[in-house]
Amino acid sequence: MIFKLACGDVMPGCASTFENIDRTSLMQDVAAHAASDHGITEITPDVHAAINGHVQALPA
Ligand SMILES: [Zn+2]
Repeated sequence: MIFKLACGDVMPGCASTFENIDRTSLMQDVAAHAASDHGITEITPDVHAAINGHVQALPA
């Protein structure tokens, strides 16, 4: 399984995309990106849910 996220689905206008075979690692990558590029230093439950809702799980 490959997990993918287009940041633009959560943050309109952002062209960054992420993919990882590990969902937890994907979230860590997204969190790091959110902090450095969007100034979101705290992944609140609402932010986490918004991100999770846009993660696509694709067959490897
Ligand atoms: Zn972004």
